Amino acid sequence: MPEKSQNNYHFETLVIHAGQEPDPTTGAVMTPIYQTSTYVQAGPAQHKGYEYSRTDNPTRKALEDCLAALEGVPYGLAFASGMAAIDTIFKLLAPGDHVIASNDVYGGTFRLADKVWANYGIAFSWVDVSSLDAIRAAIRPATRLIWLETPTNPRLGLADVAAVVGLANDAKRSDGRRPLIVVDNTFASPALQQPLRLGADLAIHSTTKYLGGHSDVVGGAVMTGDEALFQRLKFLQNAAGAVPGPQDCFLVLRGLKTLALRMERHCSNAQQIAEFLADHAQVATVNYPGLPSHPQYDLARRQMRGPGGMISVILNGGAEAGKRFVSHTRLFQLAESLGGVESLIEHPYSMTHASLAASDLAVDPGLVRLSVGIEHVDDLLDDLRQALVAK
Ligand code: PLP
Repeated sequence: MPEKSQNNYHFETLVIHAGQEPDPTTGAVMTPIYQTSTYVQAGPAQHKGYEYSRTDNPTRKALEDCLAALEGVPYGLAFASGMAAIDTIFKLLAPGDHVIASNDVYGGTFRLADKVWANYGIAFSWVDVSSLDAIRAAIRPATRLIWLETPTNPRLGLADVAAVVGLANDAKRSDGRRPLIVVDNTFASPALQQPLRLGADLAIHSTTKYLGGHSDVVGGAVMTGDEALFQRLKFLQNAAGAVPGPQDCFLVLRGLKTLALRMERHCSNAQQIAEFLADHAQVATVNYPGLPSHPQYDLARRQMRGPGGMISVILNGGAEAGKRFVSHTRLFQLAESLGGVESLIEHPYSMTHASLAASDLAVDPGLVRLSVGIEHVDDLLDDLRQALVAK
């Protein structure tokens, strides 16, 4: 990007330019897809910074630099999926370590923790991360990570990132170590919330969602301002190999260019839809941080630039009514995932959060989750109106 230091550009400019220079050989404005596994060397170990594409690839590097700039830090790593990013963070741990994690968390994160990492001697406490008292009470000398999702998936609760950082600082041990704060920033995207600027150590994303934005790629990312953490994660990623291909990196880079614009529309559509649902006779509960009825409405206004595009609801008729509702929408397609330009609807209990069903973290069977897209809001409202009364 042009000379000016990246800190002086606005977010809307960074999404388009950060990490991306015209191709030095051809002048191509768009970052080329460097579809190569290896790079010629002038002599043994004499290369231009690229040896092998598991370690580094120029298309991936452009994406990583852009993502880092969007979270306001120097270091970014792109992964093959959000879960690969999460798994690599768990690899920072050692047997005997303890993790505090949100009890309202993406089902895949719980599955990875409970069914995989718990077998390697890592202990997990699942707590309500909207409660500072609950987090404080769960901290042990062995606590190495505090894992926040904010907003949480699927209940849209919030964690006060700066306050949790304060708790972690208070828990600093005599050897200087304190729990690392990790924020899964997938639901908000850095357009709405920058947890590293609030003091968190690592921000992770499923780039499959808002960052890619078009439901055409699976990817993940981790960003940090801490060079030592970055080096360790880079080592772990290269050692284990969970890297994205260059074509997928290109797709995320292209999607990012409209992130700021898309998030504005996601927020304004979701706000109108949440208000409509809150007034509807068939709807018992609406979870949306942009409604004054949300228990952390003030925190949302403080911590986020907008309440986002995700809503969850419980209908008066409970699980039966919820399943009928998700089966009758036409524009809102019944599908897992979120954050694309198209609106999606789903039933977390049997779909995205099915892996929680047999655990204490099981979601309410009546809960319905909406990922509000960027279509015309009147068409979306009409669709929901007819589906809510469908028999
Ligand atoms: N984090 C959150 C909040 C998610 O919703 C998801 C997927 O839905 C993930 C992480 C995992 O990402 P991926 O599906 O890209 O592996």
